[in-house]
Amino acid sequence: MTDHLVEYGGKILNGGFSAKLCRRLTECITALEALDKISSPIIPYIAAWCGDGKIIWYEYVGKRFLTLLNCQRSEIAEVFQQSIVDRRLYRYADRETKVEEEIVTRAELRGDQSDLREKVKREGVVEFIYQLALPGEKTIWLKDQAMIEVFADDEICLSIGCLTEVTKEMEQKDLLEKIGYFDELTKLPKRAIMQRIIEINIGNLHRGHINDFVFMMLDLDHFKTVNDTHGHQAGDQVLVSLAEVMRSIKRQEDEIGRYGGEEFYGFSSGDLKNGLQFAERLRLAVEATDFVYNQQRIPVTVSIGLVAASQLVRIGKITVEELIRVADQRLYVAKQGGRNRVVGEDPQ
Ligand code: GH3
Ligand code: MG
Ligand code: MG
Repeated sequence: MTDHLVEYGGKILNGGFSAKLCRRLTECITALEALDKISSPIIPYIAAWCGDGKIIWYEYVGKRFLTLLNCQRSEIAEVFQQSIVDRRLYRYADRETKVEEEIVTRAELRGDQSDLREKVKREGVVEFIYQLALPGEKTIWLKDQAMIEVFADDEICLSIGCLTEVTKEMEQKDLLEKIGYFDELTKLPKRAIMQRIIEINIGNLHRGHINDFVFMMLDLDHFKTVNDTHGHQAGDQVLVSLAEVMRSIKRQEDEIGRYGGEEFYGFSSGDLKNGLQFAERLRLAVEATDFVYNQQRIPVTVSIGLVAASQLVRIGKITVEELIRVADQRLYVAKQGGRNRVVGEDPQ
């Protein structure tokens, strides 16, 4: 039965198992071998375990896997286990909502894996991302997606899947976590993120994908007095509550973030009229919110300066710096005008 399978290194086809299992396995190996021959970037494999799942072995692995791990077919299961630095399990609780990520470190991986194997068997599909330490100090991330087939008569489970290298994607994700996408106090995106959002939108505007967008700077009025009167912690609490208010007002396609200190920014898709409405809704919501700290009510208002990209097109200078400069100037006008107001154009 194994005749045409060029480099079969598994156990099942060598006897002692049902014809049904052997037929299915041969069929899968033949298909995966064909896939491997076309040198696709994905690495196909078939893993198997028996009964309690304490020992796992490979019935088939694509050639690139051997090259990556620099080992023989017979050594692959052991070398692979030893190379794992980090493993993340992705569970689709329900496809509409969120994906849970479970991080398992190397130390935990050394423990008994049979629980995990049971879970995988029940669910029928697996999605893992492994970080592997390869020979020569190199670290890569591999995404593993597989279907589980159970052969109850033989007490065998097959995991038929493929590995894809996702090193670039995972490094990007880790970098975002490292630099901190979100501000710690307010949990809003930080200034560098805003810069990027605006840059992307300037690009989209130049290419004609969008017609306009609005950038705004928002500053708390007399915030120093809040700190002086109620204390710095009360001030912090006001910033957190303000972020909540802003989050509840914004639409999916808008973005808000912390520029620094008691200054925030807003990005709104649409034109100046939409932006003015958004800013005015924000201003009113803040004014109407009861900010309370230690049973003391703290009156809070904000001033907003905003600019539509289309207002700058006329003077031909759309850059992040120019948007910030103009919005900031208008914010200053709002402050001068008595605070608790929105300004979206230059004084005549
Ligand atoms: P204006 O209406 O002109 O904006 O007056 P202001 O008092 O808000 O402005 P000013 O720039 O004089 O003071 C800003 C204050 O914001 C001073 C600073 O201590 C406070 N602040 C900045 N960041 C934080 C923070 O993270 N937490 C707290 N509690 N206060 C902060
Ligand atoms: Mg300020
Ligand atoms: Mg202020």
